[in-house]
Amino acid sequence: MRIVHDENVCASTGMCEAVAPDNFEIGDDGALHIHNLTPPEDQRELMQAAVDACPTGALSLED
Ligand code: SF4
Repeated sequence: MRIVHDENVCASTGMCEAVAPDNFEIGDDGALHIHNLTPPEDQRELMQAAVDACPTGALSLED
């Protein structure tokens, strides 16, 4: 699984961070930082929830 993040679409709302703060973090620079772009399979449900929480469609998962 790979997390795909479109920086051009991200509005830095932090909704993904609210769902999965261990992997998504709005930095001091105001930009989203994703700690692990290829999280283990047992995190798929949580990563999908973070994707679904994004209001701008900036996140997606690839197999
Ligand atoms: S929820 Fe979407 S728009 Fe908000 S910080 Fe995360 S990727 Fe960006």
